Amino acid sequence: MKKFLCFFLGLLMLLTYNVPPISAYSIPEKEEIEEIQDARDCETFYDFSKYMKDNYNIEVDRLLSGCNFNTVKTAAAGIEYTINTYPALKGRIKEFKLGYYYDYALGTSFDGTVYFFSNFFSKSDKYIEDLLTKAKKNKTKYHPTNCENVFCYGMHEAAHLLTGLILEEENIDYESYMSNIQKAKDIVKEALEGASYSMQEQKIYEISQYATTNEVECIAEAICDHLINEEKAAELSIKIAEVFEKYKKTSENSDVSFY
Ligand SMILES: [Zn+2]
Repeated sequence: MKKFLCFFLGLLMLLTYNVPPISAYSIPEKEEIEEIQDARDCETFYDFSKYMKDNYNIEVDRLLSGCNFNTVKTAAAGIEYTINTYPALKGRIKEFKLGYYYDYALGTSFDGTVYFFSNFFSKSDKYIEDLLTKAKKNKTKYHPTNCENVFCYGMHEAAHLLTGLILEEENIDYESYMSNIQKAKDIVKEALEGASYSMQEQKIYEISQYATTNEVECIAEAICDHLINEEKAAELSIKIAEVFEKYKKTSENSDVSFY
């Protein structure tokens, strides 16, 4: 009996030894592994262009293939995150174009072109990382809390086109530059209602330093602040974001994660 028991245990050990660890069974199928969650998962520039075209009808300028691909994809992922959060934005961004001359990272025109400026996007990962680290150490809070990164720069650009949705609702040309500026002024003014002039300045400054540039930038910064920091965003960001709440998806929101 003792001999039999020993044999049995030996067999059990042998079986156990050959059984792969449980985690091996949870590895998803090949299709699942290759599924693209957002623009950052595209492996080649061709895949990236196709992904933006197929999912968002956005044309990607071939000249962007000469830029830092990781940085371009990260900004694009921030843009698509904003589009997925505000599905009414779909179709509003029509083109990603390589831009020159400016020292900014990105720029957006109200007709739906997002410019990726070569002075930023042609730099190496290391250069951009150093630049962002320096900016984070800067206590002046140039951009909202947790928003000093390329993903959020992308969010900021897409957020610029939100005001146009209200213009369209009011049958005003949403691509009009002046109408966008006027509407932005009205939105910020309303969100600031009741605050004294000096308090108004302070409330805008609480979003970020860049939000003080003008009302158009204030809205883009407020949206970015609210998307990232939610209820911890600046008070004015929360009030401004409320205006655009109706353009948000109500259920099964995007499962895109920040990284
Ligand atoms: Zn801006």
